[in-house]
Parts: sequence; C-alpha cells; structure tokens
Amino acid sequence: LIKLVEENEKIEIFKSAEILSIEGYVGNFKSKILSENMEKEIEHGVVVVATGALEYEPTEYMYGKDGRIITQLELEQLLAEDKINPKNVVMIQCVGSRGEKVPYCSRICCTTAIKNALQIKEREPDAKVYVLYRDIRTYGFREDFYDKALEKGITFLRYDVDSKPRVEVASGRLKVTVKEPLIDEKISFNPDFVVLSVAQVPDPNNEDLSKSLKVPLSKDGFFLEAHMKLRPVDFATEGVFLCGSAHSPKFIDESISQAEAVVSRA
Ligand code: SF4
Repeated sequence: LIKLVEENEKIEIFKSAEILSIEGYVGNFKSKILSENMEKEIEHGVVVVATGALEYEPTEYMYGKDGRIITQLELEQLLAEDKINPKNVVMIQCVGSRGEKVPYCSRICCTTAIKNALQIKEREPDAKVYVLYRDIRTYGFREDFYDKALEKGITFLRYDVDSKPRVEVASGRLKVTVKEPLIDEKISFNPDFVVLSVAQVPDPNNEDLSKSLKVPLSKDGFFLEAHMKLRPVDFATEGVFLCGSAHSPKFIDESISQAEAVVSRA
C-alpha cells in the first residue's frame, strides 16, 4: 500500500513535514510547510485532518523496567516478525484508559488483545493466555472474536478498579497477582510476557493544528466533528474534513469508511 501511494504520480508526499501556516478558504487554500529543511508553498482546495492517535506510554505495571512487559502493539510486531513464541501470557486491560489520566474507553484494545491472544493460540495451541479485564468491550460483530477466544480456552478474569493487578519480578521471573472478585481470592501467575492494553491518546500537536485550521477539539483533545449524526466527517469550517483516529480511537475498517465518506464529501 505504501508503495502504491508513493508511486502514484497524482500524490505528492512530504515526509516529516511541519505546517507553518494555512490560509484561504474552500477551493483556494495556501499552506506553507517545512519539509526536509526546505520551505514550500502548496495550493489546495480542501484539507483533510487524518493525523491519527498515539499509544499511551504507560507508567503502570513496571513498563519500561523489564523487556518482558510490553504493549499490545509491541506484541503484535514481535509476533509478526516471528521473534517470540510465548507459552504463558498475561494481558492486562484498560491500562491508562478509563481512569484519571485518560477518562474514556479506548475502544480498540479489547479486540486487539483478543486478536493477539488468538494469534498466540494459533501458533501454540497449548499456550496459556489470561486476559485480566474490567469489562470486555468487543464492539459490534467483534463479539464473535470473544466467543472464539472462549472456545480456544483463553481465560478471562475480571478485576476491580479498586484492586488492580500487581506486576513484579521475583527471582528473575515475572509474577502477576490479581484478586478475582467473584471468589474474592488472589490468584498468581508466572507468565513469559505481560502485555498491556494501553490507551489511545490524541496527538499533542492537535492543539496547534486546530488553531491553524480554526476547528475545535473535544474535551479529550481529539478533533470534533460539526455534527455527530448529520455531518460526521465535516468541520463547521467549509472545506476542512476529518477521518480516522484524529477524531477518536478507531478500528482500521472504521477509519477507511470515514476516509471514503471524506472523499465523497470533498
Ligand atoms: S476497549 Fe477494553 S481495554 Fe480498551 S479501554 Fe475499553 S474496556 Fe478498556
């Protein structure tokens, strides 16, 4: 896909570009950008904000202190590159999300965790995968992944927000302890990896970009559409549109649907 875009003569790409100014109106925008130390001016008819979101960098659960404590994105990369073949994994949900730092649900992390858990089981059917969760939110038809995960023997254990799991390293081994609220007892595991399902957070540059484009941000720092139902990919400013996780955490298919809507609107 990257190659297709790069080779398309109708698409001009400016890498590591910084927007210096945007002026004009629908059909007649002029933007100054700084790309590879060169200032350039481009003329364009519309603006599409598709700046995405970032993965929250956790300070919880000893992240960064032991290489076996990783995020779902890191697990995905390690599995894709065939660098690991874990036999015992504990996943912890809602890391950062639904708390003081990030108050909203990050939407994609329950499905991502289950998708990765199924990947592990596919490679190693006897692998033990435990998902420690507050609520499982596999939106829409993604609920089917949850059913499949149960069929494959992935274990789901609930934890209370007031009694979060504890991660430590004891005698060189990872140890995770969680209090299961139904039986009111602590359960411990010694996994090969602890995988954190971390929040999706807005890009810190959103604020500057929103000022340049004179478009609003939501209270969470994502770009805010003109109307949730009637103009879901427009801003109130004519000729400026948005799609993808710049709007809020989203699955890839949802981002593609929004992008197609933007193309038809623009
Ligand atoms: S999708 Fe799941 S893990 Fe992610 S914030 Fe929502 S409930 Fe928590």
